[in-house]
Amino acid sequence: MELTTADHDRGRIGKTYVYPVLSRRARGLSVGINLNPNKACNWRCVYCQVPGLVAGNAPKIDLERLERELREFLDPKVLGAWLAANAPEGSRVLRDLALSGDGESTSAAEFPDVVELIGRLMLEFGHAGRVPLTLITNGSLVQHPLVQAGLAGLARIGGRVWFKLDSATDEGMQALNSSALGAGKQRRNLVACAALAPTWIQTMALARNGLPPSAAERAAYLDLVRGLVRERVPLKGVLLYGFARTSYQPEASELSALPREWMEQFAFEIRAAGLPVEISL
Ligand code: SF4
Repeated sequence: MELTTADHDRGRIGKTYVYPVLSRRARGLSVGINLNPNKACNWRCVYCQVPGLVAGNAPKIDLERLERELREFLDPKVLGAWLAANAPEGSRVLRDLALSGDGESTSAAEFPDVVELIGRLMLEFGHAGRVPLTLITNGSLVQHPLVQAGLAGLARIGGRVWFKLDSATDEGMQALNSSALGAGKQRRNLVACAALAPTWIQTMALARNGLPPSAAERAAYLDLVRGLVRERVPLKGVLLYGFARTSYQPEASELSALPREWMEQFAFEIRAAGLPVEISL
């Protein structure tokens, strides 16, 4: 069966850590690396697409197995044959590798070792410098030295970070991410992350019970962006996502996509606050 952009089945090729996804953003194949096969995350976002999500951290990572799985999939000959058999024409190209799992990747104690391993294999198979490694993270653990070591390693191999920031208020983070971290600490982590590796803010904007984010939420977000720009925090920009896939959380029936005009107006305001924006609807 050919892959579609809606297919995010982590078990598709029968591996524990490695899974293929067609990316709607990149128009090609993204090789995902899931360090959370236990479906454990320290946040619970209302829009989370992980069925059976549980609270917790990544389990101990079997680095030998991860290396074997990556070797089996990243070898250009194997990859080419697999793409020809499974991906539609026009998408038979490896666009990126993504540390994006069924939970928070940086909660794995082996996170820096995993980054180092991926970098080594990308070099060996000729993907280094051509195919970026993207870490998709909720950013909540950046204060830990181990995570910072992994981020520095990521930067060394030409990687980048998509850092989740859905709200700039404590209440908003609680309501959207079930996170008690607080907006101040999330901001601190974002600044630290951007100092270590090329960092994009990744923001989900959605309607809840038919209502868009409040004027106060929107103003707080824009204030945050203005402050970060004023302080010259080296952010790459904002990836603004609309609600496009099924949530597996109890709040699913409350969620819906915002109108295109709302998203474009918000993107306009973020740009006016000083950061480039890419919208995915
Ligand atoms: S941070 Fe990601 S994996 Fe964790 S609950 Fe949110 S969307 Fe799901």
